[in-house]
Amino acid sequence: MNRPRAIDFPFVAELVRDATRKAVEARRGLPAEAIVRKPDGSVVTAVDVALQVYILDALARRFGEIATIAEEDAASIGGKPAAEAHCDLLLRQWGFEGGAARRDWALACGGLDGPTRDLERVWILDPIDGTQGFVDGDHWCPCLALLEQGEVVFGANGHPTVLRDRFAGGIGLSAVRGAGTWVHAIDDAAALAARAEVRQDAPGPDEAVRVVAPARATESQIRARRATGEATGHPVRLVHSDSQTKYALVIAGEADIAYSRRGGGPGKYVWDHAGATLLAREAGAWVGDTDGGAIDCARGRRLGGNNAVICAARGLGPAVAASLAARDRAEGVV
Ligand SMILES: [Mg+2]
Repeated sequence: MNRPRAIDFPFVAELVRDATRKAVEARRGLPAEAIVRKPDGSVVTAVDVALQVYILDALARRFGEIATIAEEDAASIGGKPAAEAHCDLLLRQWGFEGGAARRDWALACGGLDGPTRDLERVWILDPIDGTQGFVDGDHWCPCLALLEQGEVVFGANGHPTVLRDRFAGGIGLSAVRGAGTWVHAIDDAAALAARAEVRQDAPGPDEAVRVVAPARATESQIRARRATGEATGHPVRLVHSDSQTKYALVIAGEADIAYSRRGGGPGKYVWDHAGATLLAREAGAWVGDTDGGAIDCARGRRLGGNNAVICAARGLGPAVAASLAARDRAEGVV
């Protein structure tokens, strides 16, 4: 029997930072016709697809083929010739030598669904989380996580929009379970890494807590974010971000509370949360569901077992969880 190859985590973290640099560059020259809509109506670009191919090809060449849950597939930009041509152009510029067959493999291999508790390893990839932000010049991030027997044991995200004043090109976050969360400058591979440590000091009585709301928040989303923040007993200031960057803002000390509610839906996509749950927890954040329970990333493509993913600094997690639990009951979704 083939023993699986050991995962070289620093290699993978650098691969995500490399992918982030490539996406930043690709955004500068992105033609309008390479920004299209998926069959479900959400925005996607040639960069999302090219980055998935680039990352999954590099992982497979280094570690062999590992079961994968990835966001993109052949339908993402399929039937949009200008977007497909731009994807192939990017791959050539990035030195991808696999050709059409390897590209098609990378877009077909991420369709795994169903329970992952019995699988030795699973990659979870969102090549660009927050594509609307990528298009708009707002927050976005490549996100990669590794499950072993359904547990997140590694996460690496690239955040080119976070802490740019202190880290060249923004921050790459990476964590191996039990070994803390580490911050690298995306544009400076030689710079020493810093350990990420989430603030633990309770806010002062009149101090505003910073709650992350969606970038294009509706009035009701803003009201809900404010009410949740106020449930901690503090005034509220809203910080805006979509994607796993909302959790990175808590890790980086730029926000105090970020959450995502399931509501009446089928559960959030695992690739929008898996890596961040480990990155935030290893950095010292409170991460959990409305009942304080763990986030179950082992159900396949969706977090079908959780009502919310809550990430909080400064001892605010339990109050946020209680507030969101009360809201779920009031709305009849639990
Ligand atoms: Mg995405």
